[in-house]
Amino acid sequence: MLLGAHCSTAGGVACALERAVRIGAECCQLFVKNNMQWFARPLREEELRAYREARHQAGLGCVFGHAGYLINLAAPPSPNRDKSLRSLVQEVERAEALDLPFLVVHPGAHLGAGVETGLARVAEALDEVIAATPGCRVRLALENTAGQGTCLGAELWHLTELYQRVRHPERLAICLDTAHLWGAGYDIRRPDGWARVWEELEGGVGLDQLVAFHLNDSKASLGSRVDRHEHIGRGRLGLEAFRLLLADPRFAALPGCLETPKSDDLHEDRENLAVLRALSAPERGARDRRTGGAVRKRESRARLERRRAQ
Ligand SMILES: [Zn+2]
Ligand SMILES: [Zn+2]
Repeated sequence: MLLGAHCSTAGGVACALERAVRIGAECCQLFVKNNMQWFARPLREEELRAYREARHQAGLGCVFGHAGYLINLAAPPSPNRDKSLRSLVQEVERAEALDLPFLVVHPGAHLGAGVETGLARVAEALDEVIAATPGCRVRLALENTAGQGTCLGAELWHLTELYQRVRHPERLAICLDTAHLWGAGYDIRRPDGWARVWEELEGGVGLDQLVAFHLNDSKASLGSRVDRHEHIGRGRLGLEAFRLLLADPRFAALPGCLETPKSDDLHEDRENLAVLRALSAPERGARDRRTGGAVRKRESRARLERRRAQ
């Protein structure tokens, strides 16, 4: 798997790529505009030029986008729904300008209307966004969720249902978040937990629709439907879930991005990447004292924390 992280665009979109390089990432996820605002002014020509130059310099294997947090595609007819759709259309256009292959979106929250109505609304919203961006190649990568509140997408069949309902499923893709799978009740610490995930995807949209992973440990417990990210190996999920995923050759070429807490100097990203790299290549990790040490340290710290919790 290509390993990287979500990187901040503070200072301009090009800055996200410079941050990715600084942490030694092979891929990166970014917001195509401020994730807490509905709309943004268009990207200026010099911003695009700086981005393309940075993209070329960075040599990253994959750069993709994540949609803003205000957007709710499951909203009932309302000003909120209108803004959600216009906002996502703008994001797709920006993603296209930045040459991003896909934009990760959450299915949305049904706000009490129920799963059935909610999924029908999301499919209709996706149809409208796709129809409004006919020339764009950007795919909308539906992300699984922990199922917090009335969020759709905790059960993987919700994503399958959306594929079946939209007019242009070729504009869709799938992004899986490890912490969300766990929160939704998939016990991916065990091979049979991952097997359930693959079976449900294979029997639904097909594994070839997977385009990216979010690699997050979780502070929440299995099936809690709570979404709280934690550093790799320091949460309830633990290292084994990541070891199993990284050993799967089917996903060797896909990007996996951290969305874990970080400070300005980004040292947490560097540490988390070292842990993941040591897990994905244990023989290299054993030889490389630095990365091998990262996993050993984290394993003993996790043991200590478990003992304290008992
Ligand atoms: Zn997300
Ligand atoms: Zn999350």
